[in-house]
Amino acid sequence: MDNCIFCKIAGGEIPAATLYEDDEFRVILDAGPASRGHALILPKAHYTDLFELPEDLAAKAVKLAKRLLPAMKKALNCDGFHLVQNNGTAAGQTVPHYHLHIIPCYADKGPAAVWTPGECTDEDRELIPKLVKENL
Ligand code: AMP
Ligand code: ZN
Repeated sequence: MDNCIFCKIAGGEIPAATLYEDDEFRVILDAGPASRGHALILPKAHYTDLFELPEDLAAKAVKLAKRLLPAMKKALNCDGFHLVQNNGTAAGQTVPHYHLHIIPCYADKGPAAVWTPGECTDEDRELIPKLVKENL
């Protein structure tokens, strides 16, 4: 993808603070971090989101996160992590190149990503599992 900033960063055309690199991925520090050490796992190949990402790369991205977490925990002395991955502008995705956020959390600061819990209605408890299973 010619005009994709994350293609350029992942491919090394634009420099970024790189925590890890192999043939398929580059892991960089987020330029607008939610917390200290906020990192992004970028596949080097362009896929817009999880819908497009091939299954094997999706699995590799999570495996890579699993490998990075203990190293980041030691390096940053953090107490927990969010793994966040936005799909679509409605979900807040601002860069249309798949990326997995690794967001360190610090006990004294509380969770870096929060949402307000709503209510799951009896109707939805009945209907949603049925509808999803029908579409699997
Ligand atoms: P999302 O909202 O899930 O698409 O996340 C995009 C993330 O990319 C945001 O957290 C941005 O701070 C980060 N970001 C955007 N441009 C850059 C860049 N050039 N280098 C590093 N991080 C970036
Ligand atoms: Zn791209």
